[in-house]
Amino acid sequence: MAAKGDLLYAWTTDDALLEKAETGGAVSALLRYALESGMVDGVFAVRKGADVYDAVPTLITDPAEIAGAAGSLHCGTLLLPKQMRRCLLAVEPDMKIAAVLKGCDVKAMYEMAKRNQVNLDNVIMIGLNCGGTIRPETARTVVRDKLGLDPDDVVKEEIDKGKFIVVTRDGEHKGISIDELEEGAENLLGDEGLGRRSNCRRCKIKIPRQADLACGNWGVIGDKAGKATFVEVCSEKGANLLNGAENAGAVQTEAPPEKGIAIRGKVENAMLKLGDKWRERYFSALGEGKERLRTIMEETSRCIKCYSCIENCPICYCKDCSTKRDYLVTPGQVPPPFMFHLIRFAHISDSCVNCGQCEELCPVEISNSVFMHALQVDLEELFGFHPGEDMTPPVLALVEEKTERKRLEATGSDQIFDIFG
Ligand code: SF4
Ligand code: SF4
Ligand code: SF4
Ligand code: SF4
Repeated sequence: MAAKGDLLYAWTTDDALLEKAETGGAVSALLRYALESGMVDGVFAVRKGADVYDAVPTLITDPAEIAGAAGSLHCGTLLLPKQMRRCLLAVEPDMKIAAVLKGCDVKAMYEMAKRNQVNLDNVIMIGLNCGGTIRPETARTVVRDKLGLDPDDVVKEEIDKGKFIVVTRDGEHKGISIDELEEGAENLLGDEGLGRRSNCRRCKIKIPRQADLACGNWGVIGDKAGKATFVEVCSEKGANLLNGAENAGAVQTEAPPEKGIAIRGKVENAMLKLGDKWRERYFSALGEGKERLRTIMEETSRCIKCYSCIENCPICYCKDCSTKRDYLVTPGQVPPPFMFHLIRFAHISDSCVNCGQCEELCPVEISNSVFMHALQVDLEELFGFHPGEDMTPPVLALVEEKTERKRLEATGSDQIFDIFG
């Protein structure tokens, strides 16, 4: 029987599923078992939309549809938990769900749970190892300008062994080294060249051990290479799912060889070192002290106050957002006063999970996630608070929310945002 802390190779026993799924189909088999056994009412994941650059959030309640959502989409850059809250939990708050999540998704889940936006008791988190994702428009540019292919001819893409690889409808394979794409970056604030998203370059959550199971292909070697998934059991909930699926004959498992475990560790360490290198580069581009503040002021002076960074941030849920107060923003005034951005830094910078949504969805390409992430890393060093790792409450939000609650209670407002229950 698998238990928390175990490392396993796992694969599906269903040949039809094996054909459609990647790396042995263990994740698909586990999801299908979770649905069939009634452990969950639905599976929340992404599926391919119009093309390989289009990731669409999807709720699956029919086990027969699981195979259709199989596979990774490295050009799909959605933050799934916020979509899940918006589309699903707002209408079905008690639904039991298995969610397939990248590291930043898992971190967002914890920060949302602290803010009563999701109940983790109702969610089984299947984490996926993640080396990074590429914006859809960047991926199209790479395919056209670097690989000399028509982006619309691409039917499959992957990031493997440091390369971005595509396959066309004619079966042509072409790839390019991610390092080569990213080394071309000259101005890290605003125009960072091709390659992975800026937050992915700085990311250091490659194996999401905060999830119930952490799954991926790193360290799968020998006769199981490409035919099994490396699964790390991270919680009792994860162990129950894996054991149930194995007892029901949905998956088979075996212990990985020592060499496989060592290779997985090496890949993870190399990615963590790369994350450190990019943090150093991005944060030094911001400068220190007053210089950093001036840089952020200059960059945010392009802001058109569209609120996209707030609406898509997994930390921002207040019904009565301070940035919308009439003493702060005049209708129609752009850019808003710098205080607009300072308020957000004050409220959430300790909890930023570096998901990149505030930057990617900013219509004027402001490097919002770099600013917030730099602050978060400084605050983490100062206060020792690690966002997205567990249910420990964040320091800044506690102070702010208590003050805010008092203010709202004093005015008899029905807009009280119930943080921490
Ligand atoms: Fe993956 Fe990290 Fe990028 Fe999230 S931030 S997509 S976990 S590399
Ligand atoms: Fe994600 Fe930006 Fe919010 Fe940080 S501030 S959690 S990068 S959206
Ligand atoms: Fe985000 Fe602060 Fe607005 Fe709340 S008040 S939504 S934490 S910016
Ligand atoms: Fe300003 Fe960009 Fe945020 Fe919109 S997304 S409010 S333009 S910083």
